[in-house]
Amino acid sequence: MIILIPKEPQANETRVPALPEAVKKLVGLGATVQVESDLGKSLHIDNAAYETAGAEIVTDMDAAFGKADLVLRLNKPAGPEGLKEGTIHVSYLDPFLDLENVKKFAAAKVSAVSVEMIPRTTIAQKMDALSSQASLAGYSAVVQAAARLQRSLPMMMTPAGTLAPCKVFIIGAGVAGLQAIATAKRMGARVEAFDTRPVVEEQVQSLGAKFLKIDLGETGQTAGGYAKELTPEQIAKQQEAMGKAIAKADIVITTAKLFGRPAPRLITDAQLAEMQPGSVVVDMAAGSGGNVEGSKPNEEVVLHGVTILGDTNLEGRVPYDASQMYGSNLGNFVEHFWNKEEKKFELRREDEIMEGALITHDGEVVHKVIKERIG
Ligand code: NAD
Repeated sequence: MIILIPKEPQANETRVPALPEAVKKLVGLGATVQVESDLGKSLHIDNAAYETAGAEIVTDMDAAFGKADLVLRLNKPAGPEGLKEGTIHVSYLDPFLDLENVKKFAAAKVSAVSVEMIPRTTIAQKMDALSSQASLAGYSAVVQAAARLQRSLPMMMTPAGTLAPCKVFIIGAGVAGLQAIATAKRMGARVEAFDTRPVVEEQVQSLGAKFLKIDLGETGQTAGGYAKELTPEQIAKQQEAMGKAIAKADIVITTAKLFGRPAPRLITDAQLAEMQPGSVVVDMAAGSGGNVEGSKPNEEVVLHGVTILGDTNLEGRVPYDASQMYGSNLGNFVEHFWNKEEKKFELRREDEIMEGALITHDGEVVHKVIKERIG
């Protein structure tokens, strides 16, 4: 069975789908692993390191795509072009928003697995790329904000005077938000956070941060543990209640997302105007609609003297660790479905992980929810 790991075509992508250690694991399962030449260039990892791990280095990608049984990638690909029928393709796929691409994969009879759809169950935790990448993104958000802030984060008592700790407000305390809280605390900031899921309060407090209490009435969470969409009245109430915390914060990090839907708009232009000039806002939802009015995906804008970062690849700021974790997620996924006797990947559709993540198969869109969206 040939597993192919091509380079990511996006010029600004710093991560790779697998480090040599992940390749070694796949080779150990008995797969023939082919890696595109210069796969590790952005991380200064040369071809020889992949060869030592057991990979074959390939340069003729048209031929390699045409022969591959399983393709492992990171970002959503442009389409299934060049893949033979029956190929299994594993990557981010953005299946809720890019239905046209999903249709292309179905038409090409490629079995597309979407890593963001891997169910967040206990058994699938080690394959959960959303969590591994969000955790690093949360860390990076604080580091990037700190680098732009004109102040230091910790309190400093010096003969020249005392510097007060800076104030960080974090909106949304899921995987990314909790890691951002922990990072900002470690850097000595005073941290406050809010999330619509009440269960999060204790987790926020256990990290030493203050939980902002806002009574929004019924909010709750879905069976999958995700936040439910708020009503316009609840959003308005939330915005008003967060006003003070936003105005006094030096750094605001917004991580509020709704799975499969656009992110809620939580900070208005008027609220940005209330912030101290020189403050920094990181909108971690900039790529899915944006939590902050005026934020732009992958741009740094200044409004009312406030710097707003819309970086959609914050995990890519720590590309080695992000690649290591993503490659490990992929390796664990492949291992879970690996038939050791026959040395091949088995597309066991009855497995709940495959049922959740398989979007197209055998010429059809097979994922229940995505199929409904296509209609
Ligand atoms: P996410 O990225 O979809 O959202 C980030 C956070 O934003 C969430 O905490 C959400 O509640 C919050 N949010 C949404 N709307 C908001 C609003 N209006 N105001 C403030 N906050 C808002 O979420 P995530 O980080 O991917 O995690 C979602 C859930 O999945 C969490 O409960 C997490 O613990 C759970 N999870 C479980 C597993 C597992 O069991 N294997 C793994 C990962 C995550």
